[in-house]
Amino acid sequence: MKRRVSIFGATGSIGQSTIDLIARAPEAYDVVALTGGQNIAQLARDAIALKADIAVTADEARLGELRDALAGRDVEAAAGREALLEAAARPADWVMSAIVGAAGLEPGLEALKHGSTLALANKESLVTAGRLLMDTAKQHGARILPVDSEHSAVFQALVGEDISSVERVIITASGGAFRDWPLEKLHEATVAAASTHPNWNMGQRITIDSATMFNKALELIETHEFFGVPSDKIEALVHSQSLIHAMVGYQDGALMAHVGPHDMRHAIGYALHWPKRAHLPVERLDFAKIGQFDFKAVEHARYPAIRMAHDVMERGGLAGAVFNAAKEVALDVFIAEQISFVQMAVLVEGVLDRLLPDSGLINATMSLDNVRAADHIGRKTALELASKLAQP
Ligand code: NAD
Ligand code: MG
Repeated sequence: MKRRVSIFGATGSIGQSTIDLIARAPEAYDVVALTGGQNIAQLARDAIALKADIAVTADEARLGELRDALAGRDVEAAAGREALLEAAARPADWVMSAIVGAAGLEPGLEALKHGSTLALANKESLVTAGRLLMDTAKQHGARILPVDSEHSAVFQALVGEDISSVERVIITASGGAFRDWPLEKLHEATVAAASTHPNWNMGQRITIDSATMFNKALELIETHEFFGVPSDKIEALVHSQSLIHAMVGYQDGALMAHVGPHDMRHAIGYALHWPKRAHLPVERLDFAKIGQFDFKAVEHARYPAIRMAHDVMERGGLAGAVFNAAKEVALDVFIAEQISFVQMAVLVEGVLDRLLPDSGLINATMSLDNVRAADHIGRKTALELASKLAQP
């Protein structure tokens, strides 16, 4: 029987890698929904090629354009937030969550409520509303499979093991675009330079988040939320080659490391075929050629986001929603060239200093409404601080 699959964020970097795998075996899949944002031509092209039931753009103003691009084809066109949620509610066996940012949360929740297996690339869902997401899956007998490469690696290193015997989880970080820059030069880092990753080809936002290590900060929280491992057992380690994705250390001293090429189709393919392993079109590593692996401790002066992540995990509750919102705004205003590269961390830290002590906000029940409220106040506070920082 064909597997019904939907891809949220189909036009992005993860979405396109997912499509690459699915398009290699069209006979095995029945594509339900593909969604995108501004890239209407790509969305329509893929929806036609994969014979999707429906294509949805998040931008309501682009509906006419999408309809035109799909004219005469047997693919429905829709637009806007409600249409995204309606598409997420359509019966599907496997749903890829690859929208970028907090906007990915609600479609993911909707898919889980309908019992779909959620392949989760959208780490922001776990950071902003980890407990809500995990509880929703449990309540509806749905499964979440990690797609972030480090979390897929941890998941694979845990197969057959007992989580209670885990002593530590190490996730690796490439160090991003400025890992070798002198610290005093960082304030000169431009948006173009921050948008180029030394090892991976990803969307612009996650690439800049790799340079600040806000991406790794989100991933530490993601590890905590998904696997239930406490903050003091999770660490980040700089490994510039990005070949070891994560290591799980057990109480007998053994470390299980996941080693693989830096190609997201591995983690996507693992989630697509789980619990089986299927042949995947990724490079096979040649250890004799690689010679050695390099590691370096995280420099906290270069990457203040890592310390913030541990504060957020220890604070718990809605701290993650505030942190993610502040980080998204910091990234927006950096991309708009209103603040400098190093000011992104200053801005996020300012928001945390102001809002984390607010126990009424942070300890509120984790409902979708309260997550939205924490996200809103995080963004508002970040915008206020950004306008102060931007003043000459
Ligand atoms: P991207 O920017 O390349 O693509 C994002 C997708 O989301 C696009 O389809 C875009 O149209 C859509 N989108 C953007 N804003 C939206 C909104 N408000 N509502 C609905 N749709 C919207 O991003 P990406 O690099 O593919 O990353 C996607 C997610 O996967 C992120 O959460 C990222 O952290 C995570 N991730 C990415 C990689 C990677 O290698 N790219 C690796 C691990 C995890
Ligand atoms: Mg990752």
